[in-house]
Amino acid sequence: MGDIENETQSQDFFQFQPEAAAETPASSGEFRAEMHDFTILSVDDDEMFQNSLKLSLAGFSYRGIAPRILSASSANEAAKLLLENPSTAVLLLDIVMETDDAGLRLVRTIREVLGNSQLRIVLLTGQPGMAPMQSSLETYDISDYWLKTDLTNERLHSILTANLRTFEQIDVLNRARRGLQSIVEASNSLARSSGFEDFSRRMIHELAALLGVGEDGIVCVRGRDREQPPKIVGSAGRFASVLNQTLDTISDESVRDLIQRSLGEQANIETAMAQVLFFPGQAVAPPAAAYIATNRRIDDTERELLRVFATNIGTGLINVALTSQLDRIAYEDGLLEIANGNALKRGVQAALEIPPPRRRKVLFIELNQYARSCVSLGVEQGERLLRAFAKRLAVAFPPPCLIARLHEDVFAVLGPEYLVRIEYVNRLEAEAQSPEALFFGAEAASLDLNHFTSAQSAIATGLLLLKKAGLKEASGQLVEYDPKIEEETRRRFDLSQQLYKAVLNREIHIVFQPQIDLTDNRIVGAEILARWTRSDGTSIPPADFIPLAEANGLIVPLGQQILELACSALRSMDEAGFPAVTVAVNVSPVQIGRKEFIDELIATTRRYGLSPDRLELEITETVAMEDFQYANNVLSLLKREGFAIAIDDFGTGYSSLTTLRSFEAATLKIDRSFVADLGRASQNETIVEMIIRLGERMNMRVLAEGVETEQQAEWLRSRKCTLVQGYLYARPEPFEQFLARLRNSPIKTA
Ligand code: C2E
Ligand code: CA
Ligand code: CA
Repeated sequence: MGDIENETQSQDFFQFQPEAAAETPASSGEFRAEMHDFTILSVDDDEMFQNSLKLSLAGFSYRGIAPRILSASSANEAAKLLLENPSTAVLLLDIVMETDDAGLRLVRTIREVLGNSQLRIVLLTGQPGMAPMQSSLETYDISDYWLKTDLTNERLHSILTANLRTFEQIDVLNRARRGLQSIVEASNSLARSSGFEDFSRRMIHELAALLGVGEDGIVCVRGRDREQPPKIVGSAGRFASVLNQTLDTISDESVRDLIQRSLGEQANIETAMAQVLFFPGQAVAPPAAAYIATNRRIDDTERELLRVFATNIGTGLINVALTSQLDRIAYEDGLLEIANGNALKRGVQAALEIPPPRRRKVLFIELNQYARSCVSLGVEQGERLLRAFAKRLAVAFPPPCLIARLHEDVFAVLGPEYLVRIEYVNRLEAEAQSPEALFFGAEAASLDLNHFTSAQSAIATGLLLLKKAGLKEASGQLVEYDPKIEEETRRRFDLSQQLYKAVLNREIHIVFQPQIDLTDNRIVGAEILARWTRSDGTSIPPADFIPLAEANGLIVPLGQQILELACSALRSMDEAGFPAVTVAVNVSPVQIGRKEFIDELIATTRRYGLSPDRLELEITETVAMEDFQYANNVLSLLKREGFAIAIDDFGTGYSSLTTLRSFEAATLKIDRSFVADLGRASQNETIVEMIIRLGERMNMRVLAEGVETEQQAEWLRSRKCTLVQGYLYARPEPFEQFLARLRNSPIKTA
């Protein structure tokens, strides 16, 4: 810590303009007036003596200033005047007034009742025999005792000078004590500060309080390298607006220069208008300068206090810098120097501590061409993109919004709901017509923090929601969190956990729905349908659990289990004497998408000693179309291996004739939504007729599923569609029941 550079050493600090000594009593709170305005009170009931005293004091001055003289003629009057003028320096008191001890009683009142220990008291008496006891003099801190007759002009002057000096010294001590007290309090307050900015603001506050001046101040730190302009980390009063700006944005040139000089010369600077304290900083703490406008010179005591203050604060500053350095490491994104995921979590946690309604939102935003930019234009372009995007985010979501980068190109904004609006994400694009010609397409998801109790789950939900936004067909989707959807997701999550156990314990079983040829009413096969009955007896329909299994991958082991059950049933049918009956197994696109699928399928049928043509694989039309090339390959391979293929739910997709031909499927299954309308002269009848004719022309079997009425059956029969499946003939049933039905085949319709 450099010594306070004293530009004013040569001057006398206690030199005052004459008007300072004028009648106006010192306005309280102003250090300087309190200190330098000398008042002398003379108390005597002897009017003659009072007058001669005044005459004698007319020519007296201390440090060039004529003191103010007050006079009282009784102890009561004196006490009153002292109350009104608490900074009175010297009391000239006639010990004997209305009573012999009136003077001493006043002294006791001053010291014990008024609690004024600073006032210098000079006792005077007209009678030599009235001297007070020595003990009283000591007890009440009475400086002098004089016989009025001994008081010459010079003596009076020297007594007053001595007492004024003592008064002044006591005053300095008292102020120093008060100042030190406030420094201790200031350090305590500063130690509690939460970061550099808070610390700096408090520092200005404490400095202003110490000097009894307004809070016009700036705390500035030198940039990380000397090239960078110093940064304003704290400001108050008329400088409040420059917070977080660089020093060069301050319009007042003299202020700018002073701070610059202090940082450059690494020294404190003092002028008639301001103080700049320099803090050298340490490894982690950057050098800092604190400027405070005093609009006056400070005195020796204040200067001494400032030194103590600065030393105290210096260590505090280092501590805060250290924590904020740690803060930076833990809470700042290394690349963009903005908040990171930890900071977001901390912010969300703090927001969640607010009792609802919190009116806080978090927005998750993902740039949708970042990866592409990086791949095609290099990482540098990717970084440029991120920087530009972060800048634009800061404009669209101004403070107090917190902008954080979570990873790669995923950002989050936390703030009050009136600022954090999902539609503002569109502004990021709207403003993209910059010369940089960077276009930002972004996905976004927003959460209302009222729905959450933990930061962890809020952030996890937000990221998941962002994924959902990205999955939507068109890019640049915005998704808002809906607790109902969340509830549904929760329910599905619970169900998928249960399903996991059910698959593991092989609790999913199969039922058989007969497929009939109407030409001879014979059962030609069965479709195998999965069933899940939970231990509490309730069952979950496959339309619910199959999509779930597809979503979490369970469909792979589950599909394998069903295949094995189907194979084992085929074996049983062989043994029961029905080697020509086929079974149709539904195969999910997730299964077909796996390279291992065909090999596993072949291995399974071999293990059961079955010829592949006993198995028909039902694949939905939409699925077959999705990745046509791939599906086509798989289907060809399957066909070459001898498996039969059925296109399930036919009519609901958009197969063109050519693609249909290339699927090499053996069977078309007419979706039951078409069948439901048959016999009612609806448009669907035309479609079904077309499908039937299509199948004939391409040499495919056509099977109508969901046949429920005799009317539908009749309609189909008259169009030569003789393969049917539906409740009219049989509902899906357990294997034993199906086997019994086979034994009674050909079956009769109900
Ligand atoms: P899907 O493959 O179209 O199966 C036919 C559905 O229609 C079955 O429903 C069956 O019970 C029902 N059904 C049969 N006849 C009639 C009828 O006359 N009228 C009506 N209204 N419905 C009839 P289920 O068993 O609920 O299966 C629903 C869907 O679940 C199936 O549709 C299939 O997509 C899927 N699924 C069922 N089991 C499996 C399986 O083992 N693996 C795969 N991947 N999916 C399966
Ligand atoms: Ca099916
Ligand atoms: Ca179907």
